[in-house]
Amino acid sequence: MLLAVAGIVSLCLLLLWYSPGKDALGQRSYRIWSVGIGLTAVSIVVLALRIVLPEWFCVLFGNALLMIGIARLQRALEVLSDPPPPAWHHLAAAGCAWLTIIPFTLIWPSIHARVIIISIGLGGSLAFMAWRIYRIPGLWSYRSARALMMVALIGTAILVMRASFEAWGIEEKLDYYTSTTIDVASYTYYGVGPLLLTLAFLMLLNDRAFAELERQASLDPLTGIFNRRNFERQARRLLTAAAQQQHNLALLLIDADHFKSVNDQHGHQVGDEALRVIVKALQSQLRGDDLLARHGGEEFVVLLKAQDAAAACAVAERLRVAVAEAKFSNAGVLVPLRISIGVAYAGIQGDQLTQSMQQLIRRADSALYLAKREGRNRCRLAA
Ligand code: GH3
Ligand code: MG
Ligand code: MG
Repeated sequence: MLLAVAGIVSLCLLLLWYSPGKDALGQRSYRIWSVGIGLTAVSIVVLALRIVLPEWFCVLFGNALLMIGIARLQRALEVLSDPPPPAWHHLAAAGCAWLTIIPFTLIWPSIHARVIIISIGLGGSLAFMAWRIYRIPGLWSYRSARALMMVALIGTAILVMRASFEAWGIEEKLDYYTSTTIDVASYTYYGVGPLLLTLAFLMLLNDRAFAELERQASLDPLTGIFNRRNFERQARRLLTAAAQQQHNLALLLIDADHFKSVNDQHGHQVGDEALRVIVKALQSQLRGDDLLARHGGEEFVVLLKAQDAAAACAVAERLRVAVAEAKFSNAGVLVPLRISIGVAYAGIQGDQLTQSMQQLIRRADSALYLAKREGRNRCRLAA
């Protein structure tokens, strides 16, 4: 018991002292978790005080704190899903257990009944917590989430065993102050469980924050499509897959025509909006497995599977027309959007693509240059 109190109180202090630099959702979840651990710590102290304070008071008040504390831990995980489930869900198991112990404390005092009910309530909350982790989209993929789930389920197992031992008198209890094996197991869990749960929870917040950072670092903030850095990474993957699956590939380098004058005439903000409109028009013509990225400034790049050079040019032409037909206006004035496209095509020879990424880009760039020189708003295929 002393170990449990010492462990959980120091954990509380650590959580109060530590302030994680997480996203808003992570911050909220962390706050709720800290409160949950804090309540659990106070509850253990209150329950231990039954030696000096009226037993009914310590039992009801201590268990209420314990139940709310554990429920808060469950809620901390729930708020990680967007939108979170209704707030009453997290209190269901714990609340029912607490209400049920009232008569067994005040009317027919029975330690036996209380142990069974509280064990089921706590075990149920922990099981609910594990279930939440499983259900929140994306969370399950983190190892830390699976670790958290495992610690919660071990708790459920111990508590369900404790309830069953108590119900069927599997381990005879001489008096309240002697501990049976299952008591020792549950007290150990009270001591170590919160520490392990919190460790896994912090790892989980860290994993989420890291994944979010990685996602942000791979996207272009203005248009939301891949940035160049991520394009190169994804393109390598696509090139390898194309060679393995014997697909021909085409790379399209796209540049907005006279874009400087859009900025000059309408301002940079309208220019930004125009880039988003161009991206939407491009996306409307591409398939799910085509790779579209911002290559920099007003330039975009597309990497796609193409049967032959003619098919690649047909896609490029579709993209050009889609952008030219996009209706974009500023303050009632139509802003014409045009693009030029350089197309480079790479076939398969044996099990190798005939071109490297650098060669494809270089050739598409030359073709783009040609398209610009010949008057813009057109597609050209690299020789
Ligand atoms: P060309 O047809 O030869 O491509 O002419 P251009 O004006 O498009 O080419 P130039 O390279 O002279 O200018 C590119 C312009 O694109 C200049 C730059 O301000 C603008 N631009 C690049 N990135 C952004 C951006 O993120 N937002 C806005 N608003 N403008 C951008
Ligand atoms: Mg350019
Ligand atoms: Mg341009």
